[in-house]
Amino acid sequence: MTSLPDTESEQQRTPEAEGQPKSRTRRAALILNPVKPTDEDIRAIVTELSLEQGWAEPLFLETTEDDPGHGQAQEALKAGVDVVIAAGGDGTVRCVAEELAGTATALGLLPLGTGNLLARNLDIDVDDPRGAVEAALGGTERMIDVVHVNVDRAQDAHVFLVMAGLGFDAAVMADTRDDLKDKVGWLAYVDAGIRNLPGKPSKVSISIDGGKRTTRRLRSVMGGNCGKIMGGLEIFPGAKLNDGLLDIMTIAPSGKLGWFAVLGKLLARGKGKDPSLEYFQCKTAEVESETPLEIELDGDSLGKGTHMAFRVEPDSLRLRMPYGKKDPAILADPTP
Ligand SMILES: [Mg+2]
Repeated sequence: MTSLPDTESEQQRTPEAEGQPKSRTRRAALILNPVKPTDEDIRAIVTELSLEQGWAEPLFLETTEDDPGHGQAQEALKAGVDVVIAAGGDGTVRCVAEELAGTATALGLLPLGTGNLLARNLDIDVDDPRGAVEAALGGTERMIDVVHVNVDRAQDAHVFLVMAGLGFDAAVMADTRDDLKDKVGWLAYVDAGIRNLPGKPSKVSISIDGGKRTTRRLRSVMGGNCGKIMGGLEIFPGAKLNDGLLDIMTIAPSGKLGWFAVLGKLLARGKGKDPSLEYFQCKTAEVESETPLEIELDGDSLGKGTHMAFRVEPDSLRLRMPYGKKDPAILADPTP
């Protein structure tokens, strides 16, 4: 584990601290996933709060099946907006973040739908659209890590913010029924999880930080940028969004009762010697499977592949969020 950087204060920037000219009218972009169910008129809230704060009329963009957020985020960047609010689930956030990472433009989160694991890991309220927009316009800022992932040695890398995996976890994501997700929320993942429990392990080689490859037979390899999933369960114990580290977990249940050992070690926060669950912390990792396995990034299915290369990019995404007293990374209260 590395300690938090001692230059935390440099990471906390309020819009005022950026030295932006006060005379220029600020503007937010809203990138909305229109498929996500909500009782609120999200556009009306963003417009109302923007005008109330003296900001310009917001730029409204919607995601589509063909473009789940990349093109819209590029358009927002071109328009020179001050903050891009991603209104949707982790998938929308991931696609928008892929474009914003490495730029000076801040991302705001407006959680809609079931998972919203990034927001949950940041202790952001997932049921308060108005509060989310207020935070996006006037909240504090922090830098978080993103993890670049290269699948099957493709030229372009993707990014993820929460977790990604090859094998069981990705098979569950690919198999989760959308209709059930709308009805019972995260229990839909449990349904898919149970259906996917039986199965054969695959021969997978893993190299941590460019080290020697080790081969094991396992069901899943996951990379985590932070650790919490639904119900507050921390499957990467102690993983943080700003520790500059990627956490790797291997899942290799053995025998009929193997999954109980995996669950037991998860609930014990990884303590114990049982090899069915192992953890590594690193900056890069390379994973190669003998047979093609399902791949997922922040819950988005990428189909099957055999090779994943992970690289953490520390402090590369600027996040605008509520001032959180519980969060040690946030030092300054931007409200007067
Ligand atoms: Mg981390």
